[in-house]
Parts: sequence; structure tokens; C-alpha cells
Amino acid sequence: THFGFETVPEAEKAKKVYQVFESVAHNYDVMNDAMSLGIHRLWKDKLLHVMHPQPGARLLDVAGGTGDISFRFLDYVRSQQERQRRKTVRSMQTPSWQDISDKYSSSAEEGGAPRPDSSAVVCDINKEMLKVGKQKAESMGVTAGLSWVTGDAEELPFGDDQFDVYTVAFGIRNVTHIDQALQEAWRVLKPGGRFLCLEFSKVTNPALARLYDAYSFQMIPVLGEVIAGDWKSYQYLVESIRKFPDQEDFKGMIEDAGFHHVKYYNLTGGVVAIHSGFKL
Ligand code: SAM
Repeated sequence: THFGFETVPEAEKAKKVYQVFESVAHNYDVMNDAMSLGIHRLWKDKLLHVMHPQPGARLLDVAGGTGDISFRFLDYVRSQQERQRRKTVRSMQTPSWQDISDKYSSSAEEGGAPRPDSSAVVCDINKEMLKVGKQKAESMGVTAGLSWVTGDAEELPFGDDQFDVYTVAFGIRNVTHIDQALQEAWRVLKPGGRFLCLEFSKVTNPALARLYDAYSFQMIPVLGEVIAGDWKSYQYLVESIRKFPDQEDFKGMIEDAGFHHVKYYNLTGGVVAIHSGFKL
């Protein structure tokens, strides 16, 4: 039953990771809810809360999979825009009918959609994951400002200084050379841009750590087998989480890539952490 990821040579790892996500793509969203008991949604919401993006921001969501972060980003930007619009309308002194009508028509043009210059690019190495995401976007009617690009985190298909925010959620531990992915993040961000990573980390509370270990080692592969008929992929998931550097070590790696003001926030007692850094 052992998948043997810890002993596979580097060149093999990328291939195995591809196979894992190819086989889980169609069950991916359901499995996320089942295995985290829905909590992954709260972690992703928290990432957006920390990011606090403003209308006009351009996001690159690497290892974006089925698009969860990008959907939340567009939603968040849209609500920020709506808040700002209301505030402007409220603050107008003795407004004329024309003032109000101008304010409304300029932002209502897109039917409440984000400004055209606010955009999210979902980039993932796996075509199946992107396909499932794209179908989800179409069925939800979310297409404005959203694009889907096949690409490797270690060699991003984008020019320098392009994005305001770079996110990678539950993705970086799958990458073969993490330092290379971090350098690429730095390269594609604009000066002043922000790197944000949501990833499994080290549980800080010993009692919670024991519970979490028992849950992940014993339950996750079983759930994988029962729900998706795929023990091995979910065994890989658990192994990759255990091998990933802890909060402080990962912080050091982000700093080594050239980021400033690197900080992290533990969520759910360190089950996951959000790391943040700026390209100055
Ligand atoms: N970010 C999404 C989320 O939070 O739901 C998806 C996370 S999923 C656990 C990990 C994703 O990383 C998969 O879609 C996989 O294809 C992608 N991935 C793995 N290696 C990659 C690489 N080198 N470059 C880009 N994406 C990669």
C-alpha cells in the first residue's frame, strides 16, 4: 500500500504528481469537503481576508487547480467595488440627479462584474484540473476577468513584473524544486506585489498534533478509497504534507527568494499556515 514517494527520484516526482491530480480531478472538490469537513473553505476565505484585494488588482493563482482562490478573489473584489461605490454615492453633498446617475451607470455597466482591469489567472500544470475548473466557472456564470493557463510553477509562462498578487494554495508542496517556484513568484510579481501561500504546516499544539496525525494517516487514505476508489493518491497527499517544511523553515525559504516582511499566520492550530511576503 506504500506509494513510495519518499524514495522516487526528482524526475519521477513530477510525473507521479501529474498522475495523482489527473486521477483526482473529477472528485477533487467533493474530496476537499469530505476530508477537511468543509474547513478548507474557511481557510481559503481567510486567505482572501488577509489579501484584502482592491478593484483593479491582478492575481496569478499558481497551482490553482479548479479555481477556488480565483473565484473568491473575483467575488471579494466585486464586493469591495460595490462598497466603494456606495460610499461615494453617500458622501456626495447635495447630489444632482446627474451625479448619481453617472456614478451608478459607470459601475453598473458590467452588471456588478469586477472592473475590466481586475483579473485572475488560474495557472496549473494539470489540464484535467483546469478543465474541471473551467466547467465550474461556466456553470456558475463566472467568466469575466478569469483565464486558465497551463503552466509549471517552476517555469511560469509569464513576463516579469506582471501581477499584484501571487497565490499558491495547497500547491507548493507538490512542486519538485520549491526554491525555483519561489524565484518565479518573485519574478512575475510587480515591485510592491505580494506573495501569499496557503499550505499545510506543522501543528503547534501536541494534543491536536496527535489527533491530527491519527486522522490523516488512518482516515485520509481510507476516505480516498471509499469515496474515490483511490488509496494511493490520498496516501501521497498525507506523505507530502508530512514532508513539507514547518512554518519557520518555509519562512526562511521565502526570504531566500528575495521577499521582504515575510510573516505567517497559523490557522486551526497550525494544521495550515498562510505565509505572506512582498517584492520591494
Ligand atoms: N489551489 C487549488 C485549491 O486550493 O483547491 C488546488 C490545489 S491541488 C491540492 C494542487 C494543485 O497543484 C494540482 O492542481 C496540481 O496539478 C498542481 N501542481 C502540481 N505541481 C505543479 C507545478 N509544478 N506547477 C503548477 N501546478 C502544479
